[in-house]
Amino acid sequence: TVKTKRNVWSASETANHWQPWAASSHKGNHGKVGIIAGSETMPGAAAIAAGAAVKSGAGLTTIATPQSVIPMVAAHVPEATYFPRENEISSFYENKDGIAVGPGTGFDTDGPEILTELIENFEGPLVVDADGLHQLAEMLDRVRARKHPLIITPHPGEMAALIGSSPRDVNSRRFEVAASFAQEHGIYVVLKGPYTLVATPEGEIWINDSGNAGLAKGGSGDVLTGIVLAFVTKTNNIQPAISSAVYMHGYTADYLLERGVPMETMNAMEMIQALPNSFREIR
Ligand code: AMP
Ligand code: MG
Repeated sequence: TVKTKRNVWSASETANHWQPWAASSHKGNHGKVGIIAGSETMPGAAAIAAGAAVKSGAGLTTIATPQSVIPMVAAHVPEATYFPRENEISSFYENKDGIAVGPGTGFDTDGPEILTELIENFEGPLVVDADGLHQLAEMLDRVRARKHPLIITPHPGEMAALIGSSPRDVNSRRFEVAASFAQEHGIYVVLKGPYTLVATPEGEIWINDSGNAGLAKGGSGDVLTGIVLAFVTKTNNIQPAISSAVYMHGYTADYLLERGVPMETMNAMEMIQALPNSFREIR
């Protein structure tokens, strides 16, 4: 078993690490983020992840999605700009400060190529979620050589696939799984679920104490990906940014619940709409 330092990340840690906006700031220094997400059958994942990034302080958000999907996503996120995923992907990531890849991409043929290129060449924080994680399992040998932060956000099922195990096994030893995977590959692991864990490349573990079962629903993870991307893009202090994003995500669900939104009816778009309340109360 791995020896790790375990800590709780809560409201006070989030407030203490808050990065206030300077009066003189412009959209350029709030981060140019790129999100590779969405597909014909899962356009909503792109709209949700990008909507969350826009609402979490990203300066400029660009979405790479199949050309045919752009109009639908754009109707929901007019603040973003768009990039047809069929085009050469280097022209998408070259000028970005942070990239997230995976929500609803349903990657088939172009997936491995895009992910390999990002791991090897993208010089900023890279967040890999959902369908991106399925591809990542095939290229873990390339991850160690990467010099810039890599953040993965698996739920227990995705974590199990990455280590060739079962969700049941992951849940029975989640601290050890998250910490050892993070250390072995030199990455940040966000192992989701009740009490989401953030494990650092140094093997430290931060336990999140916000959130509720209203999040146990499709779309919740896409919201988290957008918040994480916006937060890690504006800082060199990666773990506090990730933990704060995880905290804000759960806090927003707690806020909705406390104000009378039943768990059963809670949804991703409502989470995004409630983010301003969380920002106001926490910072
Ligand atoms: P995903 O499975 O990718 O949609 O992500 C689900 C999100 O909801 C993650 O951030 C989980 O931590 C969160 N979540 C799911 N179920 C629960 C639960 N029962 N309690 C607290 N958070 C949850
Ligand atoms: Mg997910």
